[in-house]
Amino acid sequence: MADLIRIKNLIDGEWAFEANEKTLPLYNPSTGEQIGEVPVASPTSVEAAVKSSHEAYLKWRKVPIRKRVGYIFSLREAMKNNLEELAESIAIDQAKHISEARGEVQRVIEIVEMACNAPSLLQGEMLDQIADGINGRVARQPLGVFCGIAPFNFPALVFGWFIPFAIAAGNTFVFKPSMESPLFMQKMGQLLNDIGLPKGVVNIVYGEKEVAETWYQMPEVVGVCLVGSTPTAKSIAEACGRVGKKTMLLGGAKNYLVALEDAQMDLLISNIVQSGYGSAGQRCLASSIIAVMPDLYEEVIERLTEATKKLVVGDAMDEEVFMGPVISVQAKQRIENYIQSGIDAGARLVLDGRNPEVPEANKNGYFIGPTIFADVTPCMEIAQEEIFGPVLSVMKIQDMDDALDLIRKQTTGNGACLFTQNMYLAEKFMNEADVGMVGINVGVCAPHPYMPFGGIKDSLVGNNKVQGKDGFDFFTQNKVSTIRVAPPQSLSADQSTGGEQSAEESAGKGNVRSCIAS
Ligand code: NAD
Repeated sequence: MADLIRIKNLIDGEWAFEANEKTLPLYNPSTGEQIGEVPVASPTSVEAAVKSSHEAYLKWRKVPIRKRVGYIFSLREAMKNNLEELAESIAIDQAKHISEARGEVQRVIEIVEMACNAPSLLQGEMLDQIADGINGRVARQPLGVFCGIAPFNFPALVFGWFIPFAIAAGNTFVFKPSMESPLFMQKMGQLLNDIGLPKGVVNIVYGEKEVAETWYQMPEVVGVCLVGSTPTAKSIAEACGRVGKKTMLLGGAKNYLVALEDAQMDLLISNIVQSGYGSAGQRCLASSIIAVMPDLYEEVIERLTEATKKLVVGDAMDEEVFMGPVISVQAKQRIENYIQSGIDAGARLVLDGRNPEVPEANKNGYFIGPTIFADVTPCMEIAQEEIFGPVLSVMKIQDMDDALDLIRKQTTGNGACLFTQNMYLAEKFMNEADVGMVGINVGVCAPHPYMPFGGIKDSLVGNNKVQGKDGFDFFTQNKVSTIRVAPPQSLSADQSTGGEQSAEESAGKGNVRSCIAS
């Protein structure tokens, strides 16, 4: 057996591990083999990381924005130069297929480019002569130390959604990757050191919910952000609400793909396959319910089954493979339970992905092959709950309103896709689908980095979305200044009360004293 990889925390620019450190095993899901050990940071290490980020913040916020963004440009170059190694780190422990892992890193590079727009996007507002001799200014300012938590399924993307925006705006950051996919941030930590980012601007700690519990107690932490399941998002919202910390929390999902009778069949089938089985269905924008009009219902099932049977399942590092394993033994068991639940509820199991054929070297990996259920009804568990695996549920709908109604009744509202050539219906769907992100004739409605990303209802606990122009909102405050610009000798007695007077009052027609101190 090869030597185990020893994952380390990055605290104050140094790779650190503790004496008698508690660790959890790290597995390669493609083989089931243990490949490393991940530290569970003690409260002392978590506190040290926050203190380091706080010290760093006091200096970092004063670094001119051109210089701060210079580091983000350098990060982009470093990521481009190390794209393959970064992608491999994701393909090994998260077992996202290597081609998709490359796509994830490339997408993060584009998000980093978006964050390089900080000097434009962080400009404030100024209004001269709000009152006589008084100007008003709104500046977008940093807030302090932010902490962020990643899910297992997008170790790179979530780094991109949080950190470049937070630090370009002048904050510092403590990041907790998932214990199941820690490798990407080991490589990124090295790149952050290589580009000379001042120590403490980004710290990395590994662990579970106890890490966040230490954050809640620390006054230096101004906000906590998460991408993860809805129960985790709600528990963080509750804990942060009690101690008055900001939150930005992206939660779970259950997405519909709706096919109307004029859908282009080839486009539809290839998009269902990509959307349902990409990342082995472990994607918050995966379409897991395929809602189809009666005229094309049986044809869709037949064509989808035919296309799906051709997909090769195997090691995430094998270029010939389409789909790798799911993340863990527990995830495999959970998904198999959902398949059983679909059978028990009376859905038609058209393609059973349990125990797929894989090469001998992968026989201990956590594989579930592409699975298709037909005749699924809205009340079945498989239609209601997030399966987060390669299981598609095909359902018959009578018309688009039927689909819109089902989408509206869901507790989550991340994404929904429509396949049609009718622009009137497409427009109606874009307006009325009760979700945050819509796709028209695309299977995965992931917005481009220049657009905001986030759902509604239980898919977004709180208000802020990530990336695009919204990317900076959570990480900045709009600080307002009221500035007297007229020389004191030109002030009348009334005007000396402050900046609140209306034009009429300033002109001496009223006699209202300001309620703010001058
Ligand atoms: P998870 O909620 O189990 O864990 C997410 C992260 O939170 C992990 O790092 C975990 O260690 C940590 N965590 C768990 N419980 C915690 C607690 N009580 N307090 C603080 N931290 C805690 O999710 P997961 O299984 O890693 O990821 C899959 C989930 O993430 C799915 O529900 C998926 O839909 C969601 N997700 C959503 C989006 C989105 O954009 N909305 C994107 C990716 C993933």
